[in-house]
Amino acid sequence: MKVIMKNLGEKYEGRENFTLRNINLEIDDQDFCVILGPSGCGKTTLLRMIAGLNSITEGDLYFDERRVNTIPPKDRDIAMVFQSYALYPHMTVYDNMAFSLVMRKERKKLIDERVKEAAKLLQIEEYLYAKPADISGGQRQRVALGRAIVRNPSVFLMDEPLSNLDAKLREHMRVELVRLHKSLGTTSIYVTHDQTEAMTMATKIILLDDGKIQQVGKPEEFYNKPENIFVARFIGSPTINIIKGKYKGGKFVSETDTIALTPSKEDAEYLKDFEGKEISIGIRPERFESGGEFGDTFEATIDVIEMLGKEKTLFATLKDGSDLVISTPGHYDYKEGETHTFGFDIKAIHYFDSETGERINR
Ligand code: ATP
Repeated sequence: MKVIMKNLGEKYEGRENFTLRNINLEIDDQDFCVILGPSGCGKTTLLRMIAGLNSITEGDLYFDERRVNTIPPKDRDIAMVFQSYALYPHMTVYDNMAFSLVMRKERKKLIDERVKEAAKLLQIEEYLYAKPADISGGQRQRVALGRAIVRNPSVFLMDEPLSNLDAKLREHMRVELVRLHKSLGTTSIYVTHDQTEAMTMATKIILLDDGKIQQVGKPEEFYNKPENIFVARFIGSPTINIIKGKYKGGKFVSETDTIALTPSKEDAEYLKDFEGKEISIGIRPERFESGGEFGDTFEATIDVIEMLGKEKTLFATLKDGSDLVISTPGHYDYKEGETHTFGFDIKAIHYFDSETGERINR
């Protein structure tokens, strides 16, 4: 099922301003759409509007061609999974999963089939007769998913469902959720503040900040073509380096002249109108070149090295005292305290208008 939002807005009672405004979006059938953004940006508000748990102040919400603004949650054909799992503690796993179907007065045989099928899919058959308190956090999360799956909804809505799990389990459940989505094909909308979850799971990411959409697209578009500095900083770990400067005589020159960079031919076309203006460059930590034998180079002193195994993160300082983060393969032999020459992969430079923060080389 498609979920379409036209000029959606939410203004909570007693609040002076709109929490969300001008939300125009189309989530396609079978999409795994991740709503991403920092705390307080309005992610949960948007999800609750789609679920029917929040009233819609302005705009229209459609499920395919059907306008659902005033349709109550139980008639929207959705299933929601919360961060807190919200399982009934006195019921077995089986009864928790069966609950919504029992309430719908489905036949016992059908309920039994659905619960067992979901349990098999989620590999929780062994625990069907345990109580929530007797199983682990990861297993409880699966039960919460199972409870949503048995309803066979047209849309799954998930609000930070993995945030109570430890890092290893979260990584595992990410893959499980993607597998599950591939096998069920149900349109899913998933809220998180974790860019890794968005990058690894989404077919479509919606990045919100301050109640506004910053960018909509595929994960690789966010990484390779962030539309503004906020997006560039939000996606990618370690965080992208943003260096302020000017565009002078066909070159980018940093504020203190420590870095000078000649753009690629393609980028120079976009930069034509920016001669003499303040611009910023963004360069991801892994797009520096060690040694920098060709093109523009600069020197940086390595203060701290974080060894992550397959890669090393170098926290370095430029001559003017500003910070720079550089990622290198783990086997490269850098030491703290050393000064080295680095270059740029000039095809990987993001140029931004310093005034608006908007991307220049589209
Ligand atoms: P988090 O990741 O911290 O959960 P979020 O992006 O999901 O944040 P929301 O929970 O949607 O953000 O909240 C967005 C804004 O709306 C916040 O400023 C919050 O205080 C406000 N808000 C949320 N619910 C209500 C409510 N029921 N009444 C009034 N204001 C609310």
